[in-house]
Amino acid sequence: DIPVIYVITPTHTRPTQKADLTQLGNTLRQVPNLHWIVVEDADFKSPLVAKFLLNLRISYTHLNVPKPDYCKSGCVARGSEQRNLGLDWLRRNRGPLDSGVVYFGDDDNTYDLEVFEEMRYTKHVSVWPVGLIGSRRYERPLVRDGRVVSWYTRYPGRRFCTDMAGFAVNLNLILANPEARFNLKGAKAGMQESDFLSKITKLEYLEPRANNCTKVLVWHTRTEKASLHEHVTENVDIEV
Ligand code: UDP
Ligand code: MN
Repeated sequence: DIPVIYVITPTHTRPTQKADLTQLGNTLRQVPNLHWIVVEDADFKSPLVAKFLLNLRISYTHLNVPKPDYCKSGCVARGSEQRNLGLDWLRRNRGPLDSGVVYFGDDDNTYDLEVFEEMRYTKHVSVWPVGLIGSRRYERPLVRDGRVVSWYTRYPGRRFCTDMAGFAVNLNLILANPEARFNLKGAKAGMQESDFLSKITKLEYLEPRANNCTKVLVWHTRTEKASLHEHVTENVDIEV
């Protein structure tokens, strides 16, 4: 039986949300043995996301948790309260006999289907390049003799110079390290990934994927914020 890919996606309400989720859903529905954990940054589950997930017809779990108050006016740990709830769900609902891999997939990135097969047989923590990140065309692990030895990045000074989209973790490593969570209070910009990975692994244990980290299979794209001018509202019901 092939390992399940658990994709944890934080998501929040904004005009482009359904468009972003539609693009991501169209990708994930093509990946076999995938369970999508969608965590809304909200006090309640929205009908928009609930209906969207029901219609998608893939295996999923719909959760919600609002960002803490001290993050309401903007926060470097965007999505991390939601990622932590996704991790809690796995720790409560899966056990050591389940085989799988955990991936943090933000709702506005672009994913090649190949990245999912690269991560599926992760024994510990696997890594690969991420495109359009950190003021560069890509950021990536540098590999020598099959081992990650350092990083190509504009922002060194992190133990793990990777983005959320650049690594996946074996499910059992998540279950065996219940203290491994994302920091919110006092989190420093750009340190989410490195701080999290520092709790569960070491550089020398990383498993390089995507042809020794020479292929970009995921891009940190950002959907342009919609600027809406709707002083006159159309007098019809429409699903947007
Ligand atoms: N997100 C969230 N609440 C927020 C802002 C962002 O849940 O207040 C989610 C967002 O939908 C995405 C992830 O967290 O899945 C990362 O946010 P974003 O894409 O805005 O960050 P960036 O890519 O710009 O660093
Ligand atoms: Mn993003």
